[in-house]
Amino acid sequence: MKNLAPILPIENWENYKQRPLVIAGPCSAETEKQVLQTAIEIAESKKVDIFRAGLWKPRTRPGTFEGVGSVGLPWLKRVKEETGLPVATEVANAKHAYEALKYGIDYIWIGARTAVNPFAVQEIADSLEGSNVGVMIKNPINPDLDLWMGGIERIRKAGISKIAAIHRGFSNYEKTQYRNIPHWQLAVELKQLMPDLPVICDPSHITGDSSLLYEVSQKAMDLNYEGLMIETHIDPEHALSDAAQQVTPNELKEILSRLIMRSPVSSDKGFLDVLGELRSQIDLFDDQLLNILEQRMNVAKTIAKYKKENNITILQTKRWTEIIKKSIAKGEQKGLSSEFIDTLFKAIHQESINHQTKIMNE
Ligand code: PEP
Ligand code: MN
Repeated sequence: MKNLAPILPIENWENYKQRPLVIAGPCSAETEKQVLQTAIEIAESKKVDIFRAGLWKPRTRPGTFEGVGSVGLPWLKRVKEETGLPVATEVANAKHAYEALKYGIDYIWIGARTAVNPFAVQEIADSLEGSNVGVMIKNPINPDLDLWMGGIERIRKAGISKIAAIHRGFSNYEKTQYRNIPHWQLAVELKQLMPDLPVICDPSHITGDSSLLYEVSQKAMDLNYEGLMIETHIDPEHALSDAAQQVTPNELKEILSRLIMRSPVSSDKGFLDVLGELRSQIDLFDDQLLNILEQRMNVAKTIAKYKKENNITILQTKRWTEIIKKSIAKGEQKGLSSEFIDTLFKAIHQESINHQTKIMNE
């Protein structure tokens, strides 16, 4: 997808190559005072570009704080007047979008629970037609890149030019160190498929834990993300939603100052020579890996023919369990994580089963 306008006017865009575009503010707007005080402290840091606050909160379980709703729109208007910061809020349906536009909200975002529903996204897209609002589309809660891109395309087709994606991680049944598993590869792939689209990382919803914000933000910078959205509250401990992941404006400032901004390109000849040499080593190993995989598959195919002649099933559970166990143990000795070996060998095994099934059915 070419020619996507960047989220902010192009005259400012160069700035974000030196430092990230930063969106900060509370998970939820709770009171006018909380919103304004947070915004004023954030603005004083001079490190934030857009103020965020959720008005309509999509909560997983009923009975928790579901946001103040339209009542908070004038609060955001005041933030804009008093701090000069553009303001952003989440919309989940056409009514929210209509209200947000009426109050001059500069940016809206579509939340992860809305991004899963093409009807809802289309309804929002239709209601934005002809407006100049900026739109940020969060990844859907399930790791489905097409669905995420579909949402972006729907907004784009409505004639919106200021568009960005927000990577906030994905729901996971198993507990991990993070609240939402990042699956970085999906966002990297989005960047490859839509190279002109700014991608913003939301470390708050990825980690669910304020103590992990710095490391995830730094990782996002090292993956060349254009920006960060970080939930910030004057009194995180007493926040009505997402208390564990919010930081104070001061803590935000500290996180942002610690970020190391590395350049995606270099013109230093010495550096490029060494990098080129190392990359050719990687290419060589990749070739070897592919050759070995080809050879392995060929043996699997021979086994399949042999099994077919002897009327034996493809899957030999006991043998497979042994292979995985043995490989994980060996991998760990080599400094390779058990998750990686597990994923790698399951993929190899699946490919082998596919080849064998083909032979069985011939
Ligand atoms: C939020 O940004 O406060 C929010 C609800 O996000 P998500 O849709 O990523 O859960
Ligand atoms: Mn939140």
